[in-house]
Amino acid sequence: MKRITTNVLVIGGGAAGMAAAVSAAERGAEVLLIEREERTGGVLNQCIHNGFGLHYFREELTGPEYAERFHKMLAKRGVKVAPRAHVWEPILNENRVLVVTETGIQEVVYGALVITTGARERPFGAIMIPGDRPAGIFTAGLAQRFVNIENRLPGKRALILGSGDIGLIMARRLTLEGMEVVAVVERLPYPGGLERNVQQCLVDFNIPLLLSHTVVEVEGYPRLRRVWVAKVGQDFQPIPGTETAYDVDTLILSVGLIPEVKLVEGSLEMHPKSLGIKVSNTGRTSRSNVFAAGNNVVIYDLVDYVSREGLIAGKHAVRVSKDPGKSDEKIRKVLIEEGKNVALVSPSWFEFSEDLRLYLRVSHPMENVVLKVRPGIYERRYERVAPNEMISFTIKADRVPETSKITVEVVERG
Ligand SMILES: Cc1cc2nc3c(=O)[nH]c(=O)nc-3n(C[C@H](O)[C@H](O)[C@H](O)COP(=O)(O)OP(=O)(O)OC[C@H]3O[C@@H](n4cnc5c(N)ncnc54)[C@H](O)[C@@H]3O)c2cc1C
Repeated sequence: MKRITTNVLVIGGGAAGMAAAVSAAERGAEVLLIEREERTGGVLNQCIHNGFGLHYFREELTGPEYAERFHKMLAKRGVKVAPRAHVWEPILNENRVLVVTETGIQEVVYGALVITTGARERPFGAIMIPGDRPAGIFTAGLAQRFVNIENRLPGKRALILGSGDIGLIMARRLTLEGMEVVAVVERLPYPGGLERNVQQCLVDFNIPLLLSHTVVEVEGYPRLRRVWVAKVGQDFQPIPGTETAYDVDTLILSVGLIPEVKLVEGSLEMHPKSLGIKVSNTGRTSRSNVFAAGNNVVIYDLVDYVSREGLIAGKHAVRVSKDPGKSDEKIRKVLIEEGKNVALVSPSWFEFSEDLRLYLRVSHPMENVVLKVRPGIYERRYERVAPNEMISFTIKADRVPETSKITVEVVERG
């Protein structure tokens, strides 16, 4: 078996992985980036709509344009990229991974590891809708790949279940490509995706958004023929007698992304709410020379956030990889936890070597609120907050006091 050694190994070449690799290489580290697809870019390669890079590049780019900028940086910084290579077994306690490549299995030994494996879509089988199991049911990302990369339409008439960003973007894309989208159905009383996507993808194209509704049955075999939709009550249970039939040959599911953590389940600590890898504000995981960034930590709204976290993880990975003693260093940790009305906060703990960027989602829509980071670290007023818009802000490291715990809460303005 061929053996390769590198300072920093990055697994996954999406936005987070490319940023981590660039950042580590800029600091003089030898970096290897392993990507299982033909090329780096990850989900960006199939997102041909614009809306990427407004924060990071201060320009509105398409996904492939955003990825291309990082491709160029990878080349300029001399990052070694190994495409069509799949990491199938990380052996973290020996600082090595096994990789399947076209020429056989290889072993890569690293000083520090950055895991940036992204997320996968929740599939049809996970949402337990009664009825047939016909052709014509696709996750939104798969449909996006069909249309934008393979140049194939999934059907003629579609209904979309779930109003996450991918579902909203696909409602517009399928319409532009000549399909009829009869409705987007969402079981929550508010949309799952960004407000700007609701406006630009549904309102601008007259596509109805049915809030507090869900799909209760699918019919047809071997191809989907009909989908039954019903209203749901506050308990999210369908209300009998409210069923409506839609004759469609395609059902697109946009019912959530799940952090892709299979590789390291059991070897790293996971966040009980995001289901992603627990990290600090440096991207460090529960193992001190292993870092993680991007959608395998928490599902971010914007690629700009993902790149920012990748850059930080790459920077700190270099620090550890160059001085193996550091990997056992005693790190001062301040735990970060969700307080009142906060569904999820990331990162999970704070280290004093980096500023603290917090990312959070509230548990339900609220108006006239104050966001507080306790004890007395930060306070900000908001007119309106909702779970579909991730809140992010930075607190300088020297503003964080010596304390054992930080709590983030959102309360009504008194
Ligand atoms: C449909 C859609 C629309 C979006 N629209 C916008 C938008 O308008 N504006 C915006 O700012 N953001 C948008 N985003 C969000 C943003 O694009 C993503 O958050 C970001 O690109 C995710 O990057 P990532 O690196 O975490 O994951 P990914 O892009 O998923 O990259 C992970 C990579 O890891 C590789 N990998 C996984 N496992 C292995 C393994 N074992 N071995 C080797 N390689 C592996 C995968 O092949 C993949 O390339 C959108 C996202 C989606 C899905």
